[in-house]
Amino acid sequence: MSWQTYIDDHLIATGKISRAGIYGHDGTLWAGSQNFTPKPEEVKIIIESFDNAQKIQESGIHCNGVKYFALSHNEQNLHGKKGTAGIIAEKTAQAVIIGTYEEGTAPGEANTIIWKLGEYLRGGWQWTISRKNNSMDINGSMDINRSMDIMDQWVLMDQWVLMDQWVSMDQWVSMRYTMSEFDFNEHSHRRYNPLTNSWVLCSPHRTKRPWQGQQETADNESLPSYDPSCYLCPGNRRAQGDTNPEYQNTFVFTNDFAAVKSDQPQFLHKTDGVRGECKVMCFSPKHNITIAEMSEDAIIPVIKAWIEVYRNSFSIPYINHVQIFENKGAIMGCSNPHPHCQIWCTESIPEEPTKEIISMTKYYEKNNSCLLCDYVLLETVKLKDKSRIVCENDSFVCVTPFWAIWPYETMIIAKSHVTSLIELDGEKQLSDLADIIRRITCRYDNIFKCSFPYSMGIHQAPVDEKDHSHDSHLHLHFYPPLLRSSSIKKFLVG
Ligand SMILES: [Zn+2]
Ligand SMILES: [Zn+2]
Ligand SMILES: [Zn+2]
Repeated sequence: MSWQTYIDDHLIATGKISRAGIYGHDGTLWAGSQNFTPKPEEVKIIIESFDNAQKIQESGIHCNGVKYFALSHNEQNLHGKKGTAGIIAEKTAQAVIIGTYEEGTAPGEANTIIWKLGEYLRGGWQWTISRKNNSMDINGSMDINRSMDIMDQWVLMDQWVLMDQWVSMDQWVSMRYTMSEFDFNEHSHRRYNPLTNSWVLCSPHRTKRPWQGQQETADNESLPSYDPSCYLCPGNRRAQGDTNPEYQNTFVFTNDFAAVKSDQPQFLHKTDGVRGECKVMCFSPKHNITIAEMSEDAIIPVIKAWIEVYRNSFSIPYINHVQIFENKGAIMGCSNPHPHCQIWCTESIPEEPTKEIISMTKYYEKNNSCLLCDYVLLETVKLKDKSRIVCENDSFVCVTPFWAIWPYETMIIAKSHVTSLIELDGEKQLSDLADIIRRITCRYDNIFKCSFPYSMGIHQAPVDEKDHSHDSHLHLHFYPPLLRSSSIKKFLVG
């Protein structure tokens, strides 16, 4: 590859670097983009500054007639800024790469692009990957693209990381690890969440610390099956004066008053005062029961009621999205123990589903298949290690996703490609959904012998007029906040 190709293909083609040049350490130009025309004196000062940054600290970095202030510098990398634009210089054994970026490119992004070319020129990464009895060396004679290919295959082969398509070269590069003796069960690493296109920091060793703190047993307060002061129990009067009917299974009512204000979803989405309707759905007339304690036959009417609300939302023109969620337990900010969920029918699509739709669209465009269908296939068929599967039946699987943040986080995912609850095919799939909801909630309660708190949300296709056949796949998220016992909450840092 010629020096000019590096400039064109590695830097300018990214659309992030506006101008760039590669110089020898003596200041001779090896290659440059058309509009990259710094004075020889400017280049000389940049090259000297890797060893002694005094000049650029005092009078800034000059290049192409622009003066940047010196933001950071070390023996390998210089970074200068002027407003939202900037300059980066990266030194390798033989060369110095200089690139500028303009408004619209994040400084870190530009820095990574130039650093990557630097790494490439430095001769690829020196990695030793070993695990158990297997080991493989990737040595410096290989360029970075080749290393990445092997890395991906290796990882896939050993089933460490989910799908090769999910972990592109860029993502591996951005991890920037020395993969020596790397062990996913020991060492901190980042895991990619393909649904929200974000990274999760994983520190496995932290859970191995001896635990000497709080360890409490569950507070199994016994509740009456009917509470005269509960605004959700049958026959009771609500805050605004309406009286609940003597309902037998489920009961849905619209609540736009303060009564539900304290019962906000904590994980699933934030709203911003858009038009919509907030509904409350009681799962059962019994005040002291939870989904975990309900039979499959009693859960089916709940699912049917969800379907009903979802279906009806199509006919309300300004409603584009239906978010069904249950915040269970006082720790989740739910003040009323009566089994219920909320349904927010809104004009705008909340943040988390929006991210998922974008990721699923991109995945479909690239792979011509559905991200969650592929993920289900991976966990249930392709991977030998089934440890992430909590339970499954013919129609659904419940897994702790690879990218889980919470210790007991799970997802229930439809095994076939259904985009919403209304596409569930007959009684079989309905009863399978009821079955798996009951099983996972039972397991939750049994972990700490308590009524397990969680935030549950159903993600499915929006109810707008667009085609969601490829960007949505029915799934339920369970985000439980507990870590070691019924009352010890895990707090997220950062
Ligand atoms: Zn009640
Ligand atoms: Zn699918
Ligand atoms: Zn989701």
